[in-house]
Amino acid sequence: MSAAASSSKNPVLVVGSVALDSVETPFGKADEVLGGSGTYFSSSASHFTPVQLVGVVGDDYPVEKLEPLRARGVDLAGLEKVSGSSFRWRGRYRHDLNSAETLETHLGVFSHFRPNIPEQFRSAPFVFLANIDPRLQLQVLEQVNKPSLVACDTMNFWIESRRPELVELLGHVDLITLNDAEARQLTEHTNLVKAARWIMDKGPKHVLIKKGEHGAFMFTRDSIFFAPAYPLESVFDPTGAGDSFAGGFIGFLAATGDLSEQNMRRAVVVGSAMGSFAVEKFSNARLLEITRAEIDSRVQEFRQLVAFDAALGA
Ligand code: AMP
Repeated sequence: MSAAASSSKNPVLVVGSVALDSVETPFGKADEVLGGSGTYFSSSASHFTPVQLVGVVGDDYPVEKLEPLRARGVDLAGLEKVSGSSFRWRGRYRHDLNSAETLETHLGVFSHFRPNIPEQFRSAPFVFLANIDPRLQLQVLEQVNKPSLVACDTMNFWIESRRPELVELLGHVDLITLNDAEARQLTEHTNLVKAARWIMDKGPKHVLIKKGEHGAFMFTRDSIFFAPAYPLESVFDPTGAGDSFAGGFIGFLAATGDLSEQNMRRAVVVGSAMGSFAVEKFSNARLLEITRAEIDSRVQEFRQLVAFDAALGA
């Protein structure tokens, strides 16, 4: 990571999936709704800073579904529409809402996608390589000009099918976000401290390991920070929580331009708050309706959640 970016409204470039999701949870079903790692990230990050989204959809994609993102200031100039069918993901959550069961991944136009970063996006100081094929994530890095921070995400699908490329990618990113199961699968360490160290040995200086309703860790060489998850009374649809976490985390860092350890800790809490909003409704619905005041008040509630008097008495 180079020196902290300076502007207070640094844009974030995100390259990720723009999908049609069909999701079943114990509380209901949604068919062919707005989904994808790129859209969740963008909806979340757009509350903090301008977002530039690069991705691909097929000619069957109902692009009007993306209008609310555009209205939130997400620049869609890098979203290609090509002939073929759109990326579709079908998943199910049983009572353990922490882990999605993938029922179907239809890559469609994603199988021939070559990301082409528009000229005006290439100098974005913050870059998020959302969950897509690591070969595409590597291609993005060939096209950008020395960002202040490059972060990436991944998932079991790519850990299984593109491990060498994913390990190569680790050598080129400053930070990775992944959930605990993915960290264990990637590193073959069951202990998360060892898993984080394994990843840092490959390149990233920061490793963010999310544990769903059990919170998130941020590991660096010299420190470990933990933030709880917000204890919601009803979780409706966990899809996109991880990408929304990343959107809050990176969006906040970009908006503040401050990459100090203290600010990164704040960003983890902001990310946790955004993840908690994402799961309150299906698809991006909640992320697209919340206000900055609601976000700020939830972040304040995190302070209460962990505040205690350390005086242990006699
Ligand atoms: P999350 O719940 O934050 O981990 O991400 C959920 C989103 O990831 C869904 O909206 C899916 O459309 C998207 N997704 C699922 N599988 C893949 C994949 N193999 N590549 C890219 N995006 C995916």
